[in-house]
Amino acid sequence: MSETPSNPDLPVIDEPTIGAAVDAALAAIAAAGTTAALKQVRIDHVGDASVLSTANRAIKDLPKDRKAAAGKLVGQGKGRVQQALAARQAELAAAEEEAALAEETVDVTVPTDRRPRGARHPLRTLEDRIADFFVGIGWEIAEGPEIEAEWFNFDALNFDADHPARQMQDTFYVAGPDGGEDSGLVLRTHTSPVQARAMLERGAPLYIACPGTVFRTDELDATHTPVFHQVEGLAIDKGLTMANLVGTLDALAAHLFGGAPITRLRPSYFPFTEPSAEMDFRCFSCDAREGLDHDADPACRVCGGTGWIEMGGCGMVNPAVLRACGIDPEEHQGFAFGLGIERILMLRNGVKDMHDMVEGDVRFPQHYGTEI
Ligand SMILES: [Zn+2]
Repeated sequence: MSETPSNPDLPVIDEPTIGAAVDAALAAIAAAGTTAALKQVRIDHVGDASVLSTANRAIKDLPKDRKAAAGKLVGQGKGRVQQALAARQAELAAAEEEAALAEETVDVTVPTDRRPRGARHPLRTLEDRIADFFVGIGWEIAEGPEIEAEWFNFDALNFDADHPARQMQDTFYVAGPDGGEDSGLVLRTHTSPVQARAMLERGAPLYIACPGTVFRTDELDATHTPVFHQVEGLAIDKGLTMANLVGTLDALAAHLFGGAPITRLRPSYFPFTEPSAEMDFRCFSCDAREGLDHDADPACRVCGGTGWIEMGGCGMVNPAVLRACGIDPEEHQGFAFGLGIERILMLRNGVKDMHDMVEGDVRFPQHYGTEI
């Protein structure tokens, strides 16, 4: 069948032309690799500007006797193309969905390279807990340098020039005096210089706690380490007495160890306090914790059967220290105390050996359940 249009502007509607258009469309459909590519094929081959659509529109202008044959030819061709498009669309969509699912699959059997996480060191956690206590009773936390002027570490705190603590076997000297008026430098042997600095900078009244790292030339063994931690407290105000000191220590003991705390003071000597005392807490571990009329458990490993635990030193601030730090001892009094944080951790958590605290084995802090 050969068609010759009567109007030269009309498209050719004959079998070779439509057949070629259908073949081109089918080839393009088969070649489309994605649904997006197939969408373009649909526009190109059955869209408004395509050969098939143009031919379809032209049928109405054909002579009557040719309309039926042309309509059948174009209709069948378009039908084949639409069918092929639908089939290819379903095929590509299914393949694409499968690929997406495969890509999102999580293989739970792949070995991970996750490393065990570290943990906060219990000394740090305990230091925070102690600081929380002092903030809770309205005190401030004060900090100072770890490399300290010898004057602040000793002189301001009433240590004589020949005090044994100044000897080389106790103190790490960083730099000696330069021969002039400047004092030498030491790694601070206690956190007390922070108190001297605070008194000089802020004056009275003053309520501060100073947790921090201190250094002494001790060998590392089960109960000593050359680098350790202290917390010291200092209160300066009008009319303070030893009773205020004991009340503060009782509250601290309750915060750290719970129970009904009893603090005992034994006379002692420190250069920076007068009078000075060693402080003991009633054992928090055995029957002694129930009160003074309860005997300690003779087998108690925390107090050794004595009912008392040595906690540190304390006393009323020596007037000579107040004067050196610019405070008039006739007007203001103060009390001060210091505790070793390692010792509190050993007592409170049953740590037997100082090596565990300093050797850095991550299993030690993890044991305390404080992963971060
Ligand atoms: Zn005990």
